[in-house]
Amino acid sequence: LEDSEIGRPSTYASIMETLTSRHYVREHKEGKGKQVYLAPTPLGEKIIAVLAGGFSFADYEFTRQVEAHLDKIAAGEERYIDVVARINDTLDNELGKMPTPEGVEQHECPECGKPLRLRNGKRGAFWGCTGYPDCKYTAPDDGGKPGQRAPEPKPASDKTYDCPVCSKPLRLRNGQRGAFWGCTGYPDCNYLVDDNQGVPALPDKIYPCPECSKPMRRINGRKGPFWSCSGYPACRHAVNDLNGAPEGIVAAQVKNQQKTA
Ligand SMILES: [Zn+2]
Ligand SMILES: [Zn+2]
Ligand SMILES: [Zn+2]
Repeated sequence: LEDSEIGRPSTYASIMETLTSRHYVREHKEGKGKQVYLAPTPLGEKIIAVLAGGFSFADYEFTRQVEAHLDKIAAGEERYIDVVARINDTLDNELGKMPTPEGVEQHECPECGKPLRLRNGKRGAFWGCTGYPDCKYTAPDDGGKPGQRAPEPKPASDKTYDCPVCSKPLRLRNGQRGAFWGCTGYPDCNYLVDDNQGVPALPDKIYPCPECSKPMRRINGRKGPFWSCSGYPACRHAVNDLNGAPEGIVAAQVKNQQKTA
């Protein structure tokens, strides 16, 4: 490592720890004095055979250069974002070209045919197309293989439903947390309501915001339900839920709730 200018005295210990704890190398005693050597295990040999040549991080020179760039960042001569973006591009590109190890099933993008790759997102693991950003196909992870995407929700009937805030029609949409009905007046009106099997779960009572008179909306928050103004973010009025109603707000009469197409 020293000869190749890789690692620092402070990182040598963790490098050795990784190599031994993952069983890439083992200790090997040899000679009269039972000198201890490190020898690659069959697993270590297999891994390097797959990575070397196709993967820059398995290349001493690449790693040496990366560390030189890191030193420059520390010295204020280079910007972190520039260096890391460059390394990430290289890595991304190489990962896309990596052969699939034997015994591991390869999954093709149903939209463009390129391989899918398991990625880590804010909401956990998901499968993304290696053709990204040209192809934006994604699928949820289903125990290590691409799962089914939630089907497009369908309205239960031809009935149309009007937005209780602006009276424009509501439209059924697919969101991260499932189907919901959103106002077609979006972004001027951002009213939305849960879907109940193809029918908007419109409240039978409307609670006008005491600050802007738009309806309050019941939200299932992490700490339980609460009511937020549908005028959010322009109006940030929010109150606690009290037995299914916004605390301290009197219901108004519902008008224009639904009509037949
Ligand atoms: Zn694709
Ligand atoms: Zn609306
Ligand atoms: Zn409001």
